[in-house]
Order: sequence, then structure tokens, then C-alpha cells
Amino acid sequence: MSQLPKTRTAGISRRGLFGAAALAPLAAVGPVEPAAEAAEIEPLANFKFDIEKETGWVGEGGSAKEATAAEFPVSQSIAGVSMRLKPGAIRELHWHALAAEWAYVIEGRCRTTVIAPNGQAEIDDFGPGDTWYFPRGHGHALQGLGPGECHFLLGFDNGHFSEYGTFSITDWIAGTPPEILSRNLGLPAAAFAGFPRKEVYIGTGRVPETPLENLRNGALQPSQMSHKYRLDMQPPRQFAGGREFIVSAREFPIQTTLTAVKMELNPGALREMHWHPHADEWQYYVRGRARVGVFGSHARHKIDEFGPGQIAFIQQGHGHYVEQVGDEPTELLVLFNHPEFQEISLAAWLGANPASLVEDNFGIPRSVVEQLTKRESGILARKA
Ligand code: MN
Ligand code: MN
Repeated sequence: MSQLPKTRTAGISRRGLFGAAALAPLAAVGPVEPAAEAAEIEPLANFKFDIEKETGWVGEGGSAKEATAAEFPVSQSIAGVSMRLKPGAIRELHWHALAAEWAYVIEGRCRTTVIAPNGQAEIDDFGPGDTWYFPRGHGHALQGLGPGECHFLLGFDNGHFSEYGTFSITDWIAGTPPEILSRNLGLPAAAFAGFPRKEVYIGTGRVPETPLENLRNGALQPSQMSHKYRLDMQPPRQFAGGREFIVSAREFPIQTTLTAVKMELNPGALREMHWHPHADEWQYYVRGRARVGVFGSHARHKIDEFGPGQIAFIQQGHGHYVEQVGDEPTELLVLFNHPEFQEISLAAWLGANPASLVEDNFGIPRSVVEQLTKRESGILARKA
């Protein structure tokens, strides 16, 4: 790929282009490709998806709405599910062959069980502001505790997690010869006729006991690496225009493939212009509204507006900002597909250069350069 700014070369002669390339050391430029003959630059992909507008899966025990790469093609690295469980309802025992699962509880309470490959097991209760993380392949189940519905957002570190990637216990049992089940699970073969004939997915159940009921096998080692993290209990990064609760693998060691953020923007706030060097960014809007502006190189810019139940996806390395809209504060949940949080702020970058270089880069007088912000602000407050 040529590093020349392709979209601005229309009026420049090929001789001019080669001339410019010749000024740079060859190693830095790489193989010189005539920009005029290079392939067309694709426009920026749609980066907005309305997950709560989907009907999704609806059953007696609850519902699930998906945003995978099938529905939202730009989101190859992260998928999401908005799930609701009625009191006692069970998202049955299952595992994900292709992805780790993260969740944030928005409303209500639920319980999870999980087994790790080392045999260690954990059972936990969750309420609003709590998150969980199940590494890829770990067997787990979820249950609504009531009172009222439990609503949580699930995130997966693979946009394709859903297709042929979710393995449910009833699905496995239903398709296995009864003689095998009998030998393996210690029941007469005929007993399996009373088991579900196909995958249950979300079933109804009784509201479980509180405090926690014992696990069937009392000899199990408790998990030495917790799957639960109380994101809202963590001290936030405080900025003039809002705050961010960030959890990376540093705070939550088992969360080895993702970083999660709960972002709160006060009315009029601006999450400053920045980019993430090594991660895609996936956003779910819980309340309030915001406009997101994305810069994708080669003069490609896109702005879209988001509100409750909508998802934004910003590809790795793309410049972006989030502008709060409306009088109600805006709250969003953000996932990055990397266990470490990294960001470069445009303002900080401008502070990391000599004034003369900035002056000549923009062709502006020194007096103007001196007024340019030179530090990171995170979230700027409403303009005075
Ligand atoms: Mn799951
Ligand atoms: Mn960002």
C-alpha cells in the first residue's frame, strides 16, 4: 500500500508524485506504487446498529437480541447481545467455542455459575453496575433472581461468536445415543426420554435460594481467579465534563482479551478527539444521546447520532470524538478488544511537538499555535 494521500492526488502529475517519493529514504516509503493507479478507497462502512429495535429470540423465560458480524458487518471483532431474564429463568448451561463472554448488568439481579478447565468452580450474584467475564470455552449458566426482570448487556471478543459457536447442554444431550448417556451419566437409558428433545436456550425456572445454594459436588475447589468485577464500585477517572470507569486486565486479571469502560458525559460535554492504537471500540448507549465523528484517513469522515439501545463501532486506529447531545446526561458502555487500555489524544499530540513544526505543518502564525490546547482533557465540559 502506498503511503501517499491518494484522495488528494487528482490534480498532481505522476512526475510530481514520484518526485515527492524520491525525497524520502526508500526504506521508509517501501515499494513505490503510483497512487493514480491504486485501487479505489472504499468509503467508511456504516458504524451504527440499533440492537434494541431487533425482535431477536423471545421465549417464556426471557429474550435475547444480537448484534453479530451478520447483522452489523463492520463489527468483526466484537459482538453483543442484549438479554433479559425473568425471575427464575435460566440461560441454560452452555459454552462458547469461539469467544469469551463479558457482561454488564443494567437492571435487576442475576446469578451465574461457571467451571474452568482446572476444575475450579464459581457461583456469584450480580446487580446493576457489576460485570462478569468468562474466558472462551468455560462452561456457564445464568439465572434471573428477581424481583423483576434482569437486563444485561453481553459482549463477545469475536463478531462471529454466534454462528455454530454456542454449545448448549440440552442440544448435546438430545443428539447423543441414550446408551452412551446411560454409561456416562449413570441413569437408565430410558430416563433420557424425559429430557428436552432440543436446545432449551432460555428456559423457565424457580427463583433460587439466597444465600447461595451449595454446588452439587461439595469437594470442588473454589475459583482462584474471580469472574466477577464490580465496575461501578471502582474509582472513576474524573474529567471536567464527565467520568469514566475503566476495567482492564490490570484490575480484573481474568479479563485477558477485553477492556471495558462505563462512560458518563454531562450535558454539553465532549469526549475529546483521540484514537486507540491497538483496539477496536464498541459502544452501547444506555441513556442520553451523542454524536460520534469518525475519521478513517483519505478524507473519509462520518458523523452519526446515537441514543439508547444503539451500538457504535470504531475501527482500530480511527480518529474519533463523542459529542454529548441534549439535556439528559449520556451514559454508554464501551468495549475494546485488548486487555490493556491505550489512547492517544490529538491535543496531547499537538503538545508533543515544537511550535515551529506545528506552525509550518498548518501554515499558521506562532500566535495561533500558542493558543492551541497542548494537553489531554479526556472529557471537556460544556463550552462556557
Ligand atoms: Mn454465554
Ligand atoms: Mn475512543
